[in-house]
Amino acid sequence: MTTLRAVDLSLAYGAEHVLRDVSVEIPEGRVTVIVGANASGKTTLLRGLGRMLRPTSGVVLLDGKDIHSRSSKYVATVMGLLPQDAPEQTGLTVAELVHRGRTPRRQGLFGRSGPGDEEAVRRALELTGLGPVAERPVDDLSGGQRRRAWIAMALAGETDVLLLDEPTAFLDVAGELEVLDLLTDLNRRSGTTMVLVLHDLNLAARYADHLVALKEGQVVRQGVPAEVLTEEFLSDVFGLRARIVLDPVARTPLIVPIGRHHSYTAIACRHPLGQEPESKPAPVRLVDGPPEFAGPG
Ligand code: ADP
Repeated sequence: MTTLRAVDLSLAYGAEHVLRDVSVEIPEGRVTVIVGANASGKTTLLRGLGRMLRPTSGVVLLDGKDIHSRSSKYVATVMGLLPQDAPEQTGLTVAELVHRGRTPRRQGLFGRSGPGDEEAVRRALELTGLGPVAERPVDDLSGGQRRRAWIAMALAGETDVLLLDEPTAFLDVAGELEVLDLLTDLNRRSGTTMVLVLHDLNLAARYADHLVALKEGQVVRQGVPAEVLTEEFLSDVFGLRARIVLDPVARTPLIVPIGRHHSYTAIACRHPLGQEPESKPAPVRLVDGPPEFAGPG
């Protein structure tokens, strides 16, 4: 297994500091989701963890050693990264793109692919449901299929750790669930450590074992979703007035935003999250009056 940790990490673009003194420990073999408002630094943190940015201070430790002291090849064989802005045009077929995920594992500059590579590519195509379009050009696919092709490339690397920035971008609701189910399958089956940036908090609540919440470049909370996602937290970090109820399907927190155009007839859980008897549907009750709304902190 591979451990990943940031200690007092500060990251900047030029003179512009985006992250300051961030410490996060990514739980091994679990799914960590980074959440936060737009421009809070989620992508920047993921880039830092993926060795794409050099810290101005602090350190990212990969297996206990400064990630910048490790070779690119080593990092690429243990950690895969799916950036948010994958190139639009590739000129490659789906199979060729997925093969690229094997590059770090090949020997030498012009290393040829072997049976292990073919098998990994076949498995990645099968897992992502892209077998039937394997020979089609990536550029001809729909936005959702293209996203899955890039995910397949990341899976083909068979790395211990996967960092995925908005893996559900450009997907419809069914596609979002499909991709997150797929990543969960991989996590459960292979013990792959996942770090995802997701902007949908309800999906984050469902799929995360561990949440890392950022606000203005600082970690404001870390922990299991049921502890992190409170109404006060949503108000403070997202400036969002919302109620949290129990997701009747996943039994995780379900965020119900209020907005300005709806009256406050709210529902709340009768039991603490996750402590419902298995057989009963999620019980709800009406509560009176809106809570104090602090607004964005
Ligand atoms: P998030 O993923 O939470 O939306 P980002 O990490 O993408 O936030 O961005 C955090 C801040 O860093 C933003 O203010 C953004 O404008 C700035 N930023 C992001 N990427 C760059 C870049 N390549 N150059 C300069 N500033 C950047």
